[in-house]
Amino acid sequence: MRVGELGFWHRSTGGPPRPRPPLDGSLSADVAIVGAGFTGLWTAYYLKKADPSLDVIVLESEFAGYGASGRNGGWIMGFCEGLPERYAGRGGEAAVFALQRELIGTVDEIGGVIDREGIEADYYKGGGLTVAVNPAQEKRLRSGVEHARRAWGLKESDLYLLDPEELESRVRVAGARCASYTPHVARVHPARLVRGLADVVENLGVTICESTRVGEIRPHEAIAERGTVTARWVVRATEGYTASLRGQGRELVPINSSMIVTEPLPDSAWEEIGWNGHEAIGDSANVYIYSQRTADGRIAIGGRGVPYRFGSRPDFGAEIADTTVESLAEKLYSMFPAAAGAGIDHGWSGVIGVPRDWCVSVHADRESGLARAGGYSGEGVAASNLAGRILRDLLLDRKSDLTGLPWVGHRPPRWEVEPLRFAAIHSIYSLYGQADRFEARTGRPSLLARAIDLASGRH
Ligand SMILES: Cc1cc2nc3c(=O)[nH]c(=O)nc-3n(C[C@H](O)[C@H](O)[C@H](O)COP(=O)(O)OP(=O)(O)OC[C@H]3O[C@@H](n4cnc5c(N)ncnc54)[C@H](O)[C@@H]3O)c2cc1C
Repeated sequence: MRVGELGFWHRSTGGPPRPRPPLDGSLSADVAIVGAGFTGLWTAYYLKKADPSLDVIVLESEFAGYGASGRNGGWIMGFCEGLPERYAGRGGEAAVFALQRELIGTVDEIGGVIDREGIEADYYKGGGLTVAVNPAQEKRLRSGVEHARRAWGLKESDLYLLDPEELESRVRVAGARCASYTPHVARVHPARLVRGLADVVENLGVTICESTRVGEIRPHEAIAERGTVTARWVVRATEGYTASLRGQGRELVPINSSMIVTEPLPDSAWEEIGWNGHEAIGDSANVYIYSQRTADGRIAIGGRGVPYRFGSRPDFGAEIADTTVESLAEKLYSMFPAAAGAGIDHGWSGVIGVPRDWCVSVHADRESGLARAGGYSGEGVAASNLAGRILRDLLLDRKSDLTGLPWVGHRPPRWEVEPLRFAAIHSIYSLYGQADRFEARTGRPSLLARAIDLASGRH
C-alpha cells in the first residue's frame, strides 16, 4: 500500500506537476491571490472572465492543487456546513433559502465550466446517498431530513428518504436500515479538476507563482520570501493552512481528514454491490465517512484521522496513521463485504479549515484591500466555486444576488488559545467515537453526541 505522497488523486494524474516559476522580486497587480486551491483558482477564473484586462497573480507555497483541493473525496455537493439558524442572523430565512438555491445551482455551474473548458475530471452527477446502519443513525437521519427541508427551504424532490429496498435497487450497503437521497451531488476526480482549472486560469492570462510562500498579508500587500506583491486587492485563500500566515493563528483550525482507495474491484464485486448510479455515499455516524465509486472502478472512502496538531500546525506531508487506515478499511469492508477481496492501494490525508462557529464566510474590505473566503469545514469543493463568484462581484464592486448571501461580511469568532484548543478538539473527536460505539451497541441515539454538538458549536 502507498501512503502519503500527496495521495492517490495526484499519483493518478502523473504525480506532482512540473513546478511553475516562483515569484522572484517585487511587483504590482490589480489582484493578488494567496493560495492556489479551488478558492484561489475559482476567484481568479471568474475575475478574469468578467474583466480580461485585470492583472491577477496567484501566489502558491507549493503547487496548484497541493492542499485539500487535490486530495479530497470528490463530492461536489449543493450544500454547506454551518447551522442555517446561524446564517439566518444575516438576512433571515429568505437569505438562507437563497444560499441553498445558489449552492444547488453550483453543482451544475461547475459541471458547465468543466464541459466548456474541456477539463477531464471524471465529473458525474449521480446524486448523494446517506445511509443509516443502526436505529440511532436512522433516527438522526430521519429527523435530519425533516430539519433540512424546513431550515434550508428544500423541496421534497431535493432530499428524500429511501427504504431498504429502494436503496438496494441502487447499491447494496450491508446492514443499511434506510438512506436519504439528494440529486444535488456530483462526483469528480479532484486533482484533475484543480490542476485542469489551474491550466485554464493560466491560459486566461493569470500568473501563477508556485514554490512561493507568503509569510504575511497586510493592507494591499502579500509579502513572500523573495518579493512583495502590491495590489488593489489581496485575497486570502489558504483555508486549512491559514495559521501559517503571520497573526492569523486563531482564524481557522486545520482539522485532518484522511482517505484510502482500493485497487480496482473485479466485475463480480460490482455486480454484487451495484452502485451503477455512481452516487456519493456517506453514513450517519457521528464520526462519519464519505465515499465514491471512482471512474476506474475503485472505492475511495474517507473520514477523520488524527484530528488536529498542536498549535494549528497543518499536516504538509499527507501522511496517514496506520490506525486510520485500519479503521477506514474496516468501515469500507463492513459496508461493502464484496470489496473484501480488493486490497487497499493508497492512503493519505489533508487538512480542512474550520472556523469557530462552523460557518463559511466571504469578506472584502475596500479600504485595506483585504479579502478572504473559506471556512468550509470539509465541504468546500462546490462552496469554493460560489465563494469565488461572490468575491468576483465584491472586488468588482457589483451589487448582485450573490453579494446579499449570508456568507458575505460574516466574521467568525476566533478559536481559543493553546493548549485549550488542542484539548478541546481531541476530546470532541474521541467523545464522538465513544458515542458511535454506544449507538452501535444499544441502538439508542447518544446524548453525549448531542452534548458535544452543542458544546463544539457545530449543530
Ligand atoms: C481528505 C479530504 C476530503 C475532503 N472531501 C471533500 C468532499 O468530498 N467534498 C467537499 O466539498 N469538500 C471536501 N473536502 C474539503 C475541500 O477539499 C476543501 O474545502 C477545499 O478544497 C478548500 O479549497 P481551498 O482552495 O480553500 O483550500 P486548499 O485546497 O487547501 O488550498 C489552499 C492553498 O493555499 C496554499 N497556501 C497555504 N498557505 C500559503 C501561504 N502562506 N502562501 C502561499 N500559499 C499558501 C496551499 O499550499 C494550498 O494549495 C475534503 C478535504 C480533505 C482534506
